[in-house]
Amino acid sequence: MAMSADAAASVAIRENAMKYCCECGAAVALSRSPGKSMVCYVCIRCRRIYYHSPRLVAGCIAAIDDRILLCQRGVDPAYGLWNLPSGFIEMPECAPDGAAREALEEANVAIDLERLYALFHIPHINQTLLVYLARLQDAHVVAGPETLAARLFKEAEVPWDQLAFATTQNALQRYFEDRRNGDFGFHFAEIVPFDSWPQSMI
Ligand code: ZN
Repeated sequence: MAMSADAAASVAIRENAMKYCCECGAAVALSRSPGKSMVCYVCIRCRRIYYHSPRLVAGCIAAIDDRILLCQRGVDPAYGLWNLPSGFIEMPECAPDGAAREALEEANVAIDLERLYALFHIPHINQTLLVYLARLQDAHVVAGPETLAARLFKEAEVPWDQLAFATTQNALQRYFEDRRNGDFGFHFAEIVPFDSWPQSMI
């Protein structure tokens, strides 16, 4: 069941608890501004509003012939598990540039981005993940410094029980299903914590 907007907001506020204004140093207080439906921190002196915006993560399903690229994580969370090349977008880059940079950093490979394929809303960790479809320019992939291994997988070779996150599994299942049907749509999903999942899968 999807997390309610109020529950998601309270998680976001807890995760981003703040006491003082970054602008003027005065105290901040939770408040609902006129005309706004969401509660957020507002400076009691300069009235600066601190919105609880999600952090953006970009990744890609990068393919060459019938294989896709997965990277074995060499950092926590999910150390040792396999993931799509992905990471936080860093200003001033845009989301597609972030996805391409992550492929380069994690697998030393250049990609040609095709289009946005899936969007995952993950309110309990305050993230939004954008997954792009991409073509690998080269089948030669080499693990970067934060990656234990970079490898190309056919569908039958994907290590489903060793995937890093619920989003990895969700995106790959949809991708292979779409590929079999010859019709790549656009997908959206909200990811919520599930008690029986390993910690790394949320
Ligand atoms: Zn202030």
